[in-house]
Amino acid sequence: MSNLQKKTDIILIGAGVMSATLGSLLKELAPEWEIKVFEKLASAGEESSNEWNNAGTGHAALCELNYTAEKPDGSVDISKATKINEQFQLSRQFWSYLVKSNLIRDPQDFIMPIPHMSLVQGEENVSFLKKRFEALSNNPLFQGMEFSDDLEKLKEWIPLIMEGRTSNEPLAATKIDSGTDVNFGALTRILFDHLKEKNVEINYKHSVEDLKRTSDGLWEVKVHDIESGNIEYHTAKFVFIGGGGGSLPLLQKTGIPESKRIGGFPVSGLFMVCNNPEVIEQHHGKVYGKAKVGAPPMSVPHLDTRYIDNKKSLLFGPFAGFSPKFLKTGSNLDLIGSVKPNNVFTMLAAGAKEMSLTKYLIQQVLLSKEKRIEELREFIPNAKSEDWDIVVAGQRVQVIKDTEDGGKGTLQFGTEVVSAADGSVAALLGASPGASTAVQVMLEVLERCFPQHMFEWKEKIKEMLPSYDVSLVDNPELFEEILASTAEALNLNEKQLVHS
Ligand SMILES: Cc1cc2nc3c(=O)[nH]c(=O)nc-3n(C[C@H](O)[C@H](O)[C@H](O)COP(=O)(O)OP(=O)(O)OC[C@H]3O[C@@H](n4cnc5c(N)ncnc54)[C@H](O)[C@@H]3O)c2cc1C
Repeated sequence: MSNLQKKTDIILIGAGVMSATLGSLLKELAPEWEIKVFEKLASAGEESSNEWNNAGTGHAALCELNYTAEKPDGSVDISKATKINEQFQLSRQFWSYLVKSNLIRDPQDFIMPIPHMSLVQGEENVSFLKKRFEALSNNPLFQGMEFSDDLEKLKEWIPLIMEGRTSNEPLAATKIDSGTDVNFGALTRILFDHLKEKNVEINYKHSVEDLKRTSDGLWEVKVHDIESGNIEYHTAKFVFIGGGGGSLPLLQKTGIPESKRIGGFPVSGLFMVCNNPEVIEQHHGKVYGKAKVGAPPMSVPHLDTRYIDNKKSLLFGPFAGFSPKFLKTGSNLDLIGSVKPNNVFTMLAAGAKEMSLTKYLIQQVLLSKEKRIEELREFIPNAKSEDWDIVVAGQRVQVIKDTEDGGKGTLQFGTEVVSAADGSVAALLGASPGASTAVQVMLEVLERCFPQHMFEWKEKIKEMLPSYDVSLVDNPELFEEILASTAEALNLNEKQLVHS
């Protein structure tokens, strides 16, 4: 056991896409600051950010029906969709900046163009999709979206889904070619390689066990070096808790008032992956359906062309389920260990409110492979069980907190930054829209924790992200410009032409 005291400017806990993004932003804005990273696993991007643990959708609200709710008057609310689209444009701009500055070599190592489609069945759903299409196509951010309920057109768009379909129920889809498949695992690894070149000290197999305030206002982080068994103490002016599902327990250890009365609700995931190259070749797109009644938003079924390990793949899912672990590599005691005197009533209230969701998730865990194939057949009527294998995806820990409109113990489906009033520590909780909006979320961390630097950083931020602080809905010309320039920098146009 050693008792080393090491000082640094910034500590990033966890080597997922969020720490990777924050570290990369900080290296551009304050290159002289010393950064250390502690990751308990052996390499970067192994938990939720790993390509097999998430769906790799560049969420820009081009196909996700849960981002456009139907209002009581029957009209479609697109405000969430425009917000998410604008946030995704920031990610595209940051990645483009890194490519143009030669900090990322080949964008196709992590991003590929892929049409995004929404598909619905039944009269009511078709009428909703049409209304949604009309609302979105009047908005500059969704130009180029097409709608069709013509079976011949649908056969052209989604031949695999249309083959063997016998139901007479009406069917409709929307399609937009500017969608993307993002390999967030590869992106995370690329960003950590870049950070290493910039002299960031990255410590793998180092688990953070505790955080304490020192008398001089710094944070002391207790780290367990898993290989040597040593305990180290590192101090920093600012700590980012980017532990994914592991963030909540670390946030609780800080003891900051903002960490109280917050709980976590873990949701596990499964995908089915196709092992038949002939089937994989017959599909090209990300096709999002509608969540079943009573299913949470993260279990919206979708059939996705993915690019993983330099190969085209086909995945279906995710099937949500219940597991008490906060990380895929976590412990069955994570959930119970997160119940503290300050959040026990919040957690109990959520438990009582979300009984039906818990029941649904447990039922989902118990589904046999054949039952899952039946759900897949709603997308691919001719799907054969032997063509599909099951892969376990990442864990999402949804935030539970007391809210004004939801009351005590309300389950949140979004992403949440929790920070100390003095900005010395921030944690990221929740998982949706997730990695796609990492740049926007990390900008929020910077705005909250470094307000004194934002004025001097603004010029550099605008150089990297021209749409920072600007509404793209209100500036359609800027949107056009950004969409075109990022498509060029990320080499998304050429591939779109090849596949269309
Ligand atoms: C099934 C599923 C599908 C998804 N689909 C999409 C999608 O299509 N598009 C999208 O944009 N997002 C998607 N997401 C969300 C996205 O994956 C996450 O938002 C994102 O990866 C979170 O990144 P992170 O860096 O916060 O966490 P992670 O990638 O989980 O990284 C956290 C890291 O912290 C480490 N860590 C934890 N505790 C400690 C500790 N005490 N000490 C040291 N290290 C620690 C972990 O080992 C891990 O490496 C999906 C998620 C899931 C689970």
